[in-house]
Amino acid sequence: MPASSAPLTRYALVDVDACYCACERIFHPELEGVPVVVLSNNDGCVISRSSEATALGVEMGAPWLRIRNWAARRGVVARSSNYELYGSISRRLMDLLHDVSPAVEAYSIDEAFIRVQATDPDGLAALGHRIRATVRRDLGIPVSVGIGPTKTLAKLASHGAKHSRALCGVAVWDQCTESARARILQATPAAGVWGVGRRTARRLAARGIDTAGQLHGQDPGALRQQFGVNLARTVLELRGTPCIETADHDADRSGRLVFSRSFSTPVTTADQMHQVLSLYAQQLTSRLRRQGSVAGAVWAFAATSPCREPFHQVSAAAELPERTDDPLAVLRSVSGLLEPRMAEGARYVRAGICLSELAPAGRQEPLPVFAADPRGRRIGAVIDEVNTRVGHGAVGLGLAGLACPPDWQMRRGMLSNRGTTCWAELTTVRA
Ligand SMILES: [Mg+2]
Repeated sequence: MPASSAPLTRYALVDVDACYCACERIFHPELEGVPVVVLSNNDGCVISRSSEATALGVEMGAPWLRIRNWAARRGVVARSSNYELYGSISRRLMDLLHDVSPAVEAYSIDEAFIRVQATDPDGLAALGHRIRATVRRDLGIPVSVGIGPTKTLAKLASHGAKHSRALCGVAVWDQCTESARARILQATPAAGVWGVGRRTARRLAARGIDTAGQLHGQDPGALRQQFGVNLARTVLELRGTPCIETADHDADRSGRLVFSRSFSTPVTTADQMHQVLSLYAQQLTSRLRRQGSVAGAVWAFAATSPCREPFHQVSAAAELPERTDDPLAVLRSVSGLLEPRMAEGARYVRAGICLSELAPAGRQEPLPVFAADPRGRRIGAVIDEVNTRVGHGAVGLGLAGLACPPDWQMRRGMLSNRGTTCWAELTTVRA
């Protein structure tokens, strides 16, 4: 077989364009073509903007309170962040990509690296367009596809796919000529290269390395000495040698589960903090059960605003009596963790709980005599089932069962329906 007929195996980065805004449009087609923004927790700042909102000059991170009137005059539609919806669409996207490629590595809520194969660069581009069309048809969201011999080059190509209209959402590194590649690298700031953080970029700039092109020309061995192995790998990847395989942080992430939120009004009393922790503990154990895991330890934290003096934060950890997904056991371990450590007069604006030492449920069950009260597990399962059937938050233990949420709870005044995760909020279609 001639060498030229060997298939090209490449990485494709599939990335949802303005993901949160795109998700908001799935069940609200009237928002197509309209400037849309999605706001952070408590409707604070802009965290996602449609291309129309970007064209109007809405900036990422802009405080909504400050631009609200200006935006309303220009027809900008704002939505509170609907993480239930975005998480569910993300899972569907990953499932869909598994149909396209056996190797899918979810990189973030709206990005995944997949392995693709074709006989030539044009075949890769055709595949990219097919992926784009399939996701658009099956999920109703736009994605860009960047394809390259390494993840770093796929990421660079995806940037081109997103920003160059002529490419229609798909860019293939292999289709670029040598001189085009050199031009792209020269025009890309070093800080724009995947894996180069702001601090590294500043250190590189101090050595006169400002662009991806200059980085590409560096000796990986020397860079390894000065900056560590990751930057040396980035240089090799820019040259087309794949060497970033699995993200280490994924392994870390799989061993922990975190739930943290900021409050609409500061929490100042031990009673309120107790409410917060018990509600969060139940949210987290529900997630545990959904993913079929049990946890061995719990850690809680709360902090005042970093913008106000004096800044104060508290944290404490506790072991669980055994690995469990029982909401009662987690509640017992978490209550009283932070309350005695709260500072007099401090106004806490954020708190969170982290469950760690996760393991698959059902592994190494303890002997019955040492096992926790089995009622706790049953209660957890019953809460999940009722909430799935009747609606999120329909029942809960203690304060989590209150019909009226406490006043510190996150404000989401412009929340769209959770049409893919909540029976009570299904979209109604009239014909
Ligand atoms: Mg994206």
